[in-house]
Amino acid sequence: MIVDYHMHLRDADERVAHRADAIEPFVETAAARGVDEIGFAEHVYYFRQTASLWAQSEKAQACMHDLDVYVDAVGEAKRHGLPVKLGLEVDYVGDRQDELAEALEPYPWDYLLGSVHWIDGLAIDQAAGGGLWAELTVEEVWRRYFDALAELASSGHVDVLAHPDLAKIFGERPANGFAYPQLNGVALEISTAGLHKPVGELYPDRALLEANGLPITLASDAHVPQNVGRDFDRALELARAAGYETVTVFEGREARQEPLG
Ligand SMILES: [Zn+2]
Ligand SMILES: [Zn+2]
Repeated sequence: MIVDYHMHLRDADERVAHRADAIEPFVETAAARGVDEIGFAEHVYYFRQTASLWAQSEKAQACMHDLDVYVDAVGEAKRHGLPVKLGLEVDYVGDRQDELAEALEPYPWDYLLGSVHWIDGLAIDQAAGGGLWAELTVEEVWRRYFDALAELASSGHVDVLAHPDLAKIFGERPANGFAYPQLNGVALEISTAGLHKPVGELYPDRALLEANGLPITLASDAHVPQNVGRDFDRALELARAAGYETVTVFEGREARQEPLG
């Protein structure tokens, strides 16, 4: 079994396309690349149902789409028998995580990804030397990032941690090595997206996988249909090197393990 559980429902020009017919090219790319099942995980801050959570302008601008339309589009594809799952990429929002979870509660999610992109309103992955990097030392950014990640994992509100060491995106690492957090109750995503960022590596490092021994999913973080399952040979190589023989399959937020490959 091979899954790609992280993609954003866009057209080939990366325009938001929350429609069932826009799902077909994702399914076609998946089939061509030997991916058995795909899952959509649109950004939580794209939806007006979550608008009360976002003060920052970049999120407030994106926050114009209807969550019901997105959920219905994926639901329609499922009813037509396409191998797709309904997910969402849920941001870390600190002490408002329960409030966000409550807004998402009515929907029939197969899984929720948890992502730390911002801490105290400052971005980790938007610009080298900007956002959080402009305010804190490299060591401090990593400490804050891993603290937030562990908090998100233990919240019980997400099922998978997306790009679990995203803070390496610009190649900045603590001089004296990592103090990896203990993460519990979630799966970790092996994401090929990092190969196409300045760092040029998979997320996460093998050592982070080995430090926690949690189950895994696989992810391209595709923002266009043509990137589904991109570089999955590299993701599988990492998974096997780290000792994984199974991959996590989600349905209705229940996880099960299937043989990997
Ligand atoms: Zn993300
Ligand atoms: Zn994403």
